[in-house]
Amino acid sequence: MTRIFCVANQKGGVGKTTTTINLAAGLARIGQRVLVVDLDPQGNATMGSGVDKRALKLSVYDVLLESASIAEARQRSAKVGYDVLGANRELAGAEVELVELERRDKRLKAALETVRNDYDFVLIDCPPSLSLLTLNGLCSAHGVIVPMQCEYFALEGLSDLVNTIKQVHANLNPDLQIIGLLRVMFDPRITLQQQVSEQLKAHFGEKVFNTVIPRNVRLAEAPSYGLPGVVFDPASKGAQSFIEFAEEMVKRINTL
Ligand code: ADP
Ligand code: MG
Repeated sequence: MTRIFCVANQKGGVGKTTTTINLAAGLARIGQRVLVVDLDPQGNATMGSGVDKRALKLSVYDVLLESASIAEARQRSAKVGYDVLGANRELAGAEVELVELERRDKRLKAALETVRNDYDFVLIDCPPSLSLLTLNGLCSAHGVIVPMQCEYFALEGLSDLVNTIKQVHANLNPDLQIIGLLRVMFDPRITLQQQVSEQLKAHFGEKVFNTVIPRNVRLAEAPSYGLPGVVFDPASKGAQSFIEFAEEMVKRINTL
């Protein structure tokens, strides 16, 4: 059975794309068949997976507007070991075009059903907003992975996302749940980060993943080579933590 997860947080620059592509690469390393869906018009997950967003003939935009299937639009990125349904700036227009259309929030869900025998995992990289694009992701998914930095306003910022997920769960997608919160860019030398990390555990308990992703420069360098850190430098601390996270995810879904 394919498991579909959104990587979401309405804030930008919190590590969504880094989490998506490195979890995908980590899962591929342990033999899982993975599709990454880039739902952000910035196309960072596309580029970071070695696919040139400017050269895309078909993208997630065409899939949402039902002018192409996922089988036609996906790219096989041999270097990274998983498939990519890419995005570029064209996707920004989809938001406006979709509003007029029927089933506008279920388009991605319907498209993913046609490839569900091809993958063990689908990971959807969401844009930094609670928009119609993100809603398409949330309507398709079994769960949400929320990357977050352990900073002062972290908990406060989460409540909008948690409320949106509750509403989608109640009205549109009864399967949807928060799979877990992933602490990213973590620096254990910073007392405040340790405190916020403890608060998160107190508040969300089991929902906080055991794996912690450290701040690691190799993870930040890798995208400029069109690779996830896990492929670019598998021995680095950042890559190792994402490989550990992939293993934790596989264990966790077996208990869902
Ligand atoms: P988002 O997709 O939420 O906007 P990104 O994944 O693009 O966030 O991350 C924002 C920036 O932080 C990027 O430049 C990325 O390379 C960097 N970054 C993300 N995670 C780490 C990490 N663990 N260590 C160091 N840099 C990171
Ligand atoms: Mg991003």
